[in-house]
Amino acid sequence: MMYMHYCKPCHRVHMLNGHKLNCPKCSGPITELRIPYMEYVSMDMSEREAFKSRCADEEQLQELSTTYRMYKYSKWYKKQQALATASETISE
Ligand SMILES: [Zn+2]
Repeated sequence: MMYMHYCKPCHRVHMLNGHKLNCPKCSGPITELRIPYMEYVSMDMSEREAFKSRCADEEQLQELSTTYRMYKYSKWYKKQQALATASETISE
């Protein structure tokens, strides 16, 4: 399976085989994107450029990225998990 990743230092969207944490070019940390591979490949050049510009913006990148690896060990993630669990309990 191919997954989309964004590398900030390279300012590049990489198509990589599997869930990667490091850039194949600069070996720096990369962000895995939520966009499916097929959706990205169906974009034309201008759409890809626009998408890349969105990735370059820190806030938009957060929205575009997958969360399951990146925030797994962070305090933020744990807090979100705790909140989710709490609200599930209330709705039951
Ligand atoms: Zn890179």
